[in-house]
Amino acid sequence: MTPSTNQHVFDYIIMGAGFAGVNISYLLRTEMPNSTYIVFENRERVGGTWDFWKYPGIRSDSFLALFGLTWHPWPHGMDFAEAHRIRDYLEDAVRCHGLDKHIRLSHKVNKAKWSSKELLWTVTVTSSGGEPSDFKARYLLACTGYYDYKTPLQADIPGLSQFKGRSSILSFGPRTSTLRASGSFSSDQEQ
Ligand SMILES: Cc1cc2nc3c(=O)[nH]c(=O)nc-3n(C[C@H](O)[C@H](O)[C@H](O)COP(=O)(O)OP(=O)(O)OC[C@H]3O[C@@H](n4cnc5c(N)ncnc54)[C@H](O)[C@@H]3O)c2cc1C
Repeated sequence: MTPSTNQHVFDYIIMGAGFAGVNISYLLRTEMPNSTYIVFENRERVGGTWDFWKYPGIRSDSFLALFGLTWHPWPHGMDFAEAHRIRDYLEDAVRCHGLDKHIRLSHKVNKAKWSSKELLWTVTVTSSGGEPSDFKARYLLACTGYYDYKTPLQADIPGLSQFKGRSSILSFGPRTSTLRASGSFSSDQEQ
């Protein structure tokens, strides 16, 4: 299917609305207020990492007072914060600073092509159930994180096939509030 083309040329297209995409969005708005930009986020909410992982007990591993955004103070204590609190904090930052009007949720960037003739990127985007559309920009900022949200890396754990308990890929579960230890795990390759 041929994508429809938006005539407007943005200065920047940002892919992803996790910490990186939200932060760069704020910086563009405040440091380069005359520039135009749009953020495409594949998920239904902002937050990336902090919206995706749901396993029991998931938290940051550094204090949010240090890890948080300098321009939107972390409202809680000096703690290792649970994922959903970090996601809510990012959503609050986006709302409070009017960044939401630049963010298109449930919009996935499928293709990006640079034209040396036009000196522009053409980015093909699909929204859930929608037809593909092309957007043009002078700069493309990839804030897509560092792991594959759809196809997690399979860990090659020696002896796993003999493990009698339950095992899960944390990307997709378990999503219950408690985990009980069961079974035992041993491997002849263990030290
Ligand atoms: C359990 C855990 C604890 C952690 N603790 C810390 C910590 O304490 N301190 C620290 O510094 N880091 C920590 N991290 C690392 C954390 O992931 C990063 O710090 C940060 O959240 C990454 O943000 P990001 O925006 O770069 O990427 P992500 O959070 O991965 O966001 C990328 C976004 O891009 C979107 N996206 C990807 N591809 C496309 C596409 N084609 N089109 C549209 N959208 C797309 C995704 O949907 C996602 O929303 C932790 C990670 C985990 C899993």
